[in-house]
Amino acid sequence: PLLLITGASGFIGSQTVAAFLRHGYRVRLAGRNESTCSRMQSTHKAHAAQIETTIVPDITNPGAFDTAVKGVDGVIHMASPFTHKIEDNERDLIIPAVKGTEGILQSVYRFAPGVKRIVLTSSFAAINDFSKGLRPGHVYEETQWNPITYQEAKEDSKGLAYPGSKTLAERAAWDFLKSNPDAKFSLSTINPVMVYGPPFPGSLSISHLGESTSQIYDLMNGSLDDVGPTRMPVFVDVRDVAEAHRLAFETDQPGRFAMCGGEFTREEICRLFRDSGLGLEGRVPKNGVDKDAKVEQGNFGDQVQGFRGDVLGNGQGVSGNGAYEVEFAMTVVAEP
Ligand code: NDP
Repeated sequence: PLLLITGASGFIGSQTVAAFLRHGYRVRLAGRNESTCSRMQSTHKAHAAQIETTIVPDITNPGAFDTAVKGVDGVIHMASPFTHKIEDNERDLIIPAVKGTEGILQSVYRFAPGVKRIVLTSSFAAINDFSKGLRPGHVYEETQWNPITYQEAKEDSKGLAYPGSKTLAERAAWDFLKSNPDAKFSLSTINPVMVYGPPFPGSLSISHLGESTSQIYDLMNGSLDDVGPTRMPVFVDVRDVAEAHRLAFETDQPGRFAMCGGEFTREEICRLFRDSGLGLEGRVPKNGVDKDAKVEQGNFGDQVQGFRGDVLGNGQGVSGNGAYEVEFAMTVVAEP
């Protein structure tokens, strides 16, 4: 089958493309410009025969995906800004997230009758109610929604605009299906907590790491004096998230898939760096590293229920393998 994948140049996107290629899919990768398209071609050059690229210059334009969707059998929509470095919540986060999602569904509806399933990369941010803190004892699962409104996300100044953009975009997708019951495709969403792990080889650029990888990199590049709070102390491995996109595309039980692999604190990551034997001691933040925030936070990882085991086949929770964190540290260090 031929799939259109957006956001394919990013951290999760590169691993997701690789997951589909390994399983024999043909992929059409959408990039914003020629240079992104040629970078994606070269990242996945081992599978050159399975890849085509297409330029979608602005995903917020009406009909932006009308041509890109033609002839495809499925769509993975991952393109959405993930950054807290923004000037205008609505312009820089909400509009690209929401319009991009609505636009691609509309284009599929009108021009891609062969599409049976769309997989949207949403987020745990669309499940979690951030106004309530970590809520020890609360069980998070796939029926829950971040209650943020458009207006609140637009006016926010406390870092809730990004979770807002993901919530509004996912809602827009489910609403589209409600308003268009004759649509020939079903929808699955992947709702991961913080996604960490090794960037796909050849996809990494130190100047464009992606938000989650930057958060780790900042703990080992000498830029921080204080370790800072662990706001979302749960992670899932990027390779599991990539595979989950494929499985969510293939399963006959579409739906919303929360993903969590385990818990972490920034203090733990600092310790891993310090003890790695890679000579990073001088670049890890000095203040706050030894305080054990994990005890204060409890077992948040166990509170995130979801990612139905029948789909991934290894039970709830996926693989919270600590070895990934060490390998990840080395991948980043080796790059520049
Ligand atoms: P990256 O920043 O590494 O990748 C983002 C991708 O989306 C890139 O391909 C980027 O293209 C594209 N993109 C971003 N903004 C736009 C825009 N306005 N128009 C067109 N394309 C755009 O982030 P991740 O790989 O981490 O994130 C991928 C998806 O996963 C996002 O939807 C994000 O919200 C979601 N997610 C991420 C989590 C994480 O911890 N990383 C956790 C939960 C969800 P370009 O290369 O041109 O910039």
